[in-house]
Amino acid sequence: MMMKEYIEQAEADLLHTYNRYQIVLDKGDGVNLYDLDGKKYLDFCAGIAVFALGYHNEAYNNALKDQIDKLIHTSNYYYNVPAVEAAKKLKKASGMDRVFFTNSGAEANEGAIKAARKYAFLKDGCTDHEIIAMNHSFHGRTYGALSVTGNPHYREAFEPMIGNIRFADLNDYESVVSQVTDKTCAIILEPVQGEGGVFPATEEFLKKLRALCDEKDILLIFDEIQCGMGRTGYMYAWQRYGVKPDIMTTAKALGCGVPVGAFLLSGKVAEHSLVAGDHGTTYGGNPLATAAVSKVFDLFEEEKVIENVRNVAPYLEEKLDELAAKYDCIETRRGAGLMQGLVFKCPVGPIINKALEKGLILINAGTNIIRFVPPLVITKENVDEMIQILAPCIEEVM
Ligand SMILES: *Cc1c(COP(=O)(O)O)cnc(C)c1O
Repeated sequence: MMMKEYIEQAEADLLHTYNRYQIVLDKGDGVNLYDLDGKKYLDFCAGIAVFALGYHNEAYNNALKDQIDKLIHTSNYYYNVPAVEAAKKLKKASGMDRVFFTNSGAEANEGAIKAARKYAFLKDGCTDHEIIAMNHSFHGRTYGALSVTGNPHYREAFEPMIGNIRFADLNDYESVVSQVTDKTCAIILEPVQGEGGVFPATEEFLKKLRALCDEKDILLIFDEIQCGMGRTGYMYAWQRYGVKPDIMTTAKALGCGVPVGAFLLSGKVAEHSLVAGDHGTTYGGNPLATAAVSKVFDLFEEEKVIENVRNVAPYLEEKLDELAAKYDCIETRRGAGLMQGLVFKCPVGPIINKALEKGLILINAGTNIIRFVPPLVITKENVDEMIQILAPCIEEVM
């Protein structure tokens, strides 16, 4: 079948919950993707900040193949070796004390919310605890995660959400304080907001939240699903800020393409929250997924992925700043590490479509922002290549 026929078939069979770009991707190699017609694309999306190691990484692929031949799934009633190894490496990378593996980011946030509520429940026996979340945040599409997602448009048709959620503004400490009551059990936020527009929290804001949480025994939850796994030049963004959460969630690049996430607890929360029977998952932490996690951590070290982010990110920032200075339609650039946003004064859809035609894959974050979340193994030459394609697209659309 031709690409067009697959697209028609997909539109006939799949539920239309996405307005997809009109290409069928077939294979990948390094930082490039190829569609069914063999057309090559430079990928600055990485499957939405997932494929950190680049496509067709031989060592990663072989680790998965070996695990497939050995054991794919067991259930959580038994122990398995890859889960033990992956948990150990994830603990070390995150600085957290206990790991629960999930199948996705949203599910990791569900677990984080449950752990926070259980912690509060064990303290006072009440069931009316409140959580503070941020406007413009994104935490996923399941009910708990959606309930703390600060985008009313995503929530409206699906009300009622889980109760007792209050919203405040990122980087506005007073707006958080004004939402705190004696029922507040947790504050959840992304250290760098992704979907909401690539908005980094300030260090001052996070430090004040940490102090507030310490004072009132409120749990600080960081959703590091997008900004974690090396993206900001640190394994986890909290390390960049020097502000450690009580609960942390991770997914996206954690398995580099195999669906896996995790929520992690500090010792204090782990000892006073979820116990046997409180939470579970059939697939979560299965040997195939955790073999991927384990290999990803090995490869991050062997391929010096974080060093590469620290080396290439300033160059990407410099080149994006040059674009922002050159074109009136660009308002500003913001972000952290290899998680950058170019904020336009106009919708960016036409620019992204033009770029796709010219062989560059980009994504938006909201209508006016182009988001750059490339594989973490990109080079400065890839950045130059990207700019060479993007600049004329901006000119043509302007
Ligand atoms: C993508 C994302 C999620 C949701 O993850 P899924 O795997 O799509 O459920 C949650 N939080 C943040 C910050 C994300 O970027």
